[in-house]
Amino acid sequence: MTHRIGRRKMQHCDLLVRNAVLVDAPSGVHQADALCVVGNRIVEIGRGEDLAARYRPQQTLDASGRVVLPGLINAHTHVSATLFRGYAADVAGRGFLERMWRIESLLGPEDVYVGALAGCAEMIRHGVTGFANHFLHMDQVARAVEETGLRAALSRTMLDRQEPSLAGGELAAGIAFAERWQGRCDRITPMLGPHAAYTCSDRLLRDAAQEARRRRLALHLHVAENAYERRLMFQRTGTTTVIHLQRLGFFDDNRVLGAHSLMLSDEDLRVLMRHDFHAAVCVAGKMHRGHGIADLRRLLDAGINVCLGTDGPASDRLDLLAGARIAHIAQNYLHGRPCALEPRTILHLATAAGADALHWPTGRLAPGQWADFILLDTDQAHLRPLIHGPQSNVLVNIIHYATGADVDTVVVNGRILMRKREMLSVDTREVLDRLQRHAERLWHEAARSPQPRSDDAMP
Ligand SMILES: [Zn+2]
Repeated sequence: MTHRIGRRKMQHCDLLVRNAVLVDAPSGVHQADALCVVGNRIVEIGRGEDLAARYRPQQTLDASGRVVLPGLINAHTHVSATLFRGYAADVAGRGFLERMWRIESLLGPEDVYVGALAGCAEMIRHGVTGFANHFLHMDQVARAVEETGLRAALSRTMLDRQEPSLAGGELAAGIAFAERWQGRCDRITPMLGPHAAYTCSDRLLRDAAQEARRRRLALHLHVAENAYERRLMFQRTGTTTVIHLQRLGFFDDNRVLGAHSLMLSDEDLRVLMRHDFHAAVCVAGKMHRGHGIADLRRLLDAGINVCLGTDGPASDRLDLLAGARIAHIAQNYLHGRPCALEPRTILHLATAAGADALHWPTGRLAPGQWADFILLDTDQAHLRPLIHGPQSNVLVNIIHYATGADVDTVVVNGRILMRKREMLSVDTREVLDRLQRHAERLWHEAARSPQPRSDDAMP
């Protein structure tokens, strides 16, 4: 739509963001200080006075004192596990899975929906605009995503605990979810999600890979996540998770999002770099469980696309910027030097890399990208001074000093979901009250239910 004002032709735009410091991984700090949105896309980046002279915006955001970043992409989580925050905090590996599967077996669809609403609220509050999710009752997560305005790649967890007779039913349920949501909501991307090589039968893994190829769906599974998995896989297959998956043809002609990718041999890396494999690494969550520190530099040097996730809320907050800060510090510790990964690289991992893994045109501030971006309030004691020019501290301040709590405005698909810390698409108070009620019931029921025999719970 155009309007003629005086002799100048004005173009319609839905949203104009002005007076901003624009920062993304490809460009670092932009020269431009404004961006313009039409529909769900960024259409132009430029100087504010220039864009204001050419566009008639429906809405304007004054971003004075704010840094605009691409929305953060949480590349691996189990969002409904907000119900289990702090649950099973003292166990890892087999013990953790036993406890989680016991309480998860008590979940009904409404629990999963309420847990997902709370997780979506937490992510919006902390500047996460898109996430990749693995869980049960996935239609309920999709419902929460639809309502809250976030973007998500959703896979219904397929898990047969290495019982091949269950593989067919699990696969059918995963496919049915993907079919229901293919093309239904422009913010939801269905994927196929076998739980992991050490918890699924070869039949389920092989068939899931074949169906993914046939239907052009990407796969999302846990890969090389801890020493327990490594031991189990060696006992069962005589090799590593990655080599076993390769022998099954799992990676052939498939895009695979591999959560954790923590314990990989050099041979594993050589296999993965030849395939369309993307590592979704959850540094803080894995450190919390004592599983180890992911060496992101090593993965990047092997030519693998590395993106950041939080894992489920039982392991970490859904605040990806806080997780990115820990990832940054952990790399310095691991390599014995500051900036072992540049802050700009960490920003890439938290934004563009996740978008690339999910084939989403977002993660960068550029024309044609989806309008998914956030405003970070840098007008605060812990984020000042902000220095531009050759000695710029802008990227260090974002990655090392900021957390998601500093995000004050969130835009997804061109829609403002949070404005000046006011949540516009979720009633957080109501959601947290419901979460509390649902969680109390589940925790009490789990405490009353008998301890599972190990061979019931685990493969
Ligand atoms: Zn996980």
